[in-house]
Amino acid sequence: MSKELIVESANNLKKALPLMMKYSVPTTPNNYALWYHYVAEKNPALKESMDKLLSASDICPPIQAESLYRKHVSSTVENETWEFRSTLENMMTQLDQLIGDTHSDTTEFQHSFDKNVSNIGKVEEEGWSIEEVVGLLKSLEKDAKQMRNATQFFGNSLASAKSEIGTLKGQLEESRKAALYDSLTGLLNRHAFDTELTSYLQSNSGGFSIILCDIDHFKKFNDTWGHLLGDQVLKAVGRKINESMRDQSSAYRFGGEEFVMLLPKTNIRIARHFAESIRKKLERLSLKDKRSGQMINNITASFGVVESQPNESITEVIARADEYLYKAKNLGRNRVLPI
Ligand code: GH3
Ligand code: MG
Ligand code: MG
Repeated sequence: MSKELIVESANNLKKALPLMMKYSVPTTPNNYALWYHYVAEKNPALKESMDKLLSASDICPPIQAESLYRKHVSSTVENETWEFRSTLENMMTQLDQLIGDTHSDTTEFQHSFDKNVSNIGKVEEEGWSIEEVVGLLKSLEKDAKQMRNATQFFGNSLASAKSEIGTLKGQLEESRKAALYDSLTGLLNRHAFDTELTSYLQSNSGGFSIILCDIDHFKKFNDTWGHLLGDQVLKAVGRKINESMRDQSSAYRFGGEEFVMLLPKTNIRIARHFAESIRKKLERLSLKDKRSGQMINNITASFGVVESQPNESITEVIARADEYLYKAKNLGRNRVLPI
């Protein structure tokens, strides 16, 4: 590394560290990398997104920071997947070799055994001596031992491969849980929502509102149009909602046909207004069924909006939003509650 580069790196770190303290950013390798790149100011897109994120808050929201890291600094997910794949590939190679070895062991056994068996006939025909018979028996015993060892080794290796596969499955499950994005819509997922909201509550950054949104009569839609088109609707709705987000607000797929939006430092009046504008956008959404060529333009959703109360838990806020959503459904759907 040239001297200039070292000085530059040190300067960047000197700039990054106090900022990380200021915004209560945990000192993880990813965060170091993110903040280092941010202060280096070599990536205008990263700079702009991060500035926006910080302008409205006293903390750096961890999930959004993670998104920035992935988008601008590295592709952790790909790395993890790659590691997982190479472990699996290694195991496959080992198993393949083991099966090959066992196969050649058994083939060898087969030859030796066949030869010994054909000799049994000769014992009588040729009138073998007792020593010769004992020799034959010993040889058969050797075959049997060799075969037993080979199968035992094979069995043990299979057992350890099985437990290794079990561990890998566990890891895969873990990484699935740790993943922040929903694979169908590409939106952040429920886990991301919980993480972000928990961190927000811990930071005492003030009130926030949430909007819970549930597509109307979606079961009937699937029954009528099929699950695949249902998936397309979920994607389109997710995209519409995500496009509508601004400033600090972020949208998540809450599960099934439900979405949730987190609006930091936003009061109920503004949040309701926001929900109403999304409701209208979804009402205007139109999709083409590629199979029948028919246009689908009767998608609607219902909304429950709440503003957080001091010391309220995540579960409590969600429960209140859910109640409003339930009321909106009962009153005929395609509406925002409370009015
Ligand atoms: P409501 O207006 O009361 O919300 O009625 P609904 O039919 O939308 O609600 P319900 O909870 O009865 O059904 C939800 C449906 O959403 C059922 C399920 O098949 C569908 N759904 C959930 N997740 C997915 C998905 O990933 N893809 C598709 N195509 N459908 C999904
Ligand atoms: Mg639902
Ligand atoms: Mg529904």
